[in-house]
Amino acid sequence: MAMKVLFVSSEVFPLIKTGGLADVSGSLPTALQQLGVDIRILMPGYPSVLQQLKNLQAITPIHHLPHIGHAELLIGNIENTDTQVYVIQAPQLYERDGGPYSDVRGDAWQDNPIRFGVLSKIAAILASPNSPVKNWQPHIVHCNDWQTGLAPAYMKLTEHSMAKSVISLHNMAFQGCYPPHWVTTLGLPSAGFSIEGFEYHGQLSFLKAGIFYADAISTVSPRYAKEIQTAAFGFGLEGILSKRGDEIKGILNGIEPEEWNPKNDIHLPANYHAGDMSGKALVKQSLQSQLGLTIDADAPLLGVVSRLTYQKGLDMLLPNLQKLLDLGCQFALLGGGEKDLEHAFADIAAKNPGKASVTIGYNEPLSHRIMAGCDMFIMPSRFEPCGLNQMYGLAYGTPPIVNATGGLADSVTDTNTAHLENKTANGFVMVEASADGLIACVLRALEIFRNQPTTWAQIVHNGMSQDLSWKHSAKEYLVMYQALVH
Ligand code: ADP
Repeated sequence: MAMKVLFVSSEVFPLIKTGGLADVSGSLPTALQQLGVDIRILMPGYPSVLQQLKNLQAITPIHHLPHIGHAELLIGNIENTDTQVYVIQAPQLYERDGGPYSDVRGDAWQDNPIRFGVLSKIAAILASPNSPVKNWQPHIVHCNDWQTGLAPAYMKLTEHSMAKSVISLHNMAFQGCYPPHWVTTLGLPSAGFSIEGFEYHGQLSFLKAGIFYADAISTVSPRYAKEIQTAAFGFGLEGILSKRGDEIKGILNGIEPEEWNPKNDIHLPANYHAGDMSGKALVKQSLQSQLGLTIDADAPLLGVVSRLTYQKGLDMLLPNLQKLLDLGCQFALLGGGEKDLEHAFADIAAKNPGKASVTIGYNEPLSHRIMAGCDMFIMPSRFEPCGLNQMYGLAYGTPPIVNATGGLADSVTDTNTAHLENKTANGFVMVEASADGLIACVLRALEIFRNQPTTWAQIVHNGMSQDLSWKHSAKEYLVMYQALVH
């Protein structure tokens, strides 16, 4: 009998996306299906989800939910796939303008504890002996990040589920901590509000609940699995994580070959592959034209697609960006987030017409074109659980320039003599996380780009010929599931 897995996530590409979690939730379930896993996704019924799912039909009401009483469970599938998605229809929680976590101004929704408490509770109900869905009972409930962190707690404490739970940590910086009165509102037993439970410094912590009650823990790269057990990266949860240290599996994310592949990327004006790179030059030319940059095949074009937050370290680029432009580089940034960073980058673009372009906002097609049309991709994150953009850079022949942390360290091999000889060099790794460290790394890349074209082609080729698919990583998840149900 096939293993049944309920994969619970607050965002799933292409239905709704704010970052890498959506990409993973959109592609890992498919890879697991290909290994024979009977997997269904569970997610909130945001408007874009209800609009995009195909063959949507009501299955059953779900009762006894905290605060809202009941909601409707629907099922549909993602277009052109047979990935089945359970959607929670609760208009008072999910059907509103704005993002999945915050309103149009960027302020977090006040009722997020209920919005994601209900998501977690329904996951636990579907895995309980009293589930209203009798013909599909999961063996595993696979939770992702804080939004689903209460599911393992509900499964153990209130729903007496027979299924096992896994929590995957995609970013320890977001934990879902709320005042203690939410414990009662969410129908959690007060006994759980302790150090040995879901309490964190006097607050209810969704993520701590997940880490404490889940039967297994994984995170999205081997390096991050070690880092989060230290004070520098654990965001206060390093103690509880190191208690379960040996159990924490670090599994590097894969990328979705249909979505992120220069050979068949529908967002590009020309396609290309490792055997014929001519299309990349056309994409660069078209990107320069689209962004108002001077059309120049030889100008090194540096790209960034990113949330603009402290995590992503792009403030380390600012002190030296003008210098790079003066050296003949071009710069294309797409992103949004902290206003001071948005303004600082926009200022540089305003002062350097034809040389620097800054697009503030979210734009999926442009993100693909930047990835393909640039010569190098800059990602100096201070911490990076896995990071997908550097992997997209590898796949698109746009060598990444990265800080040595988390998944960046696990996926980018620095260009040096030894790594060129053994054909593993695929990008450039900073020696230290600082503005000086970043500019030194970019200058090193520029020197090779301009003066050693054969070596550059080798670096590009090494990245493009790597297997970045889910094939290996999905198997590791399967092994983790199997160990839990035996
Ligand atoms: P994180 O999840 O921390 O934001 P990742 O590198 O894991 O970082 O994933 C980011 C994902 O979000 C990538 O698919 C990236 O292309 C996308 N992305 C980030 N910012 C934007 C943007 N402004 N427009 C379009 N896509 C974006």
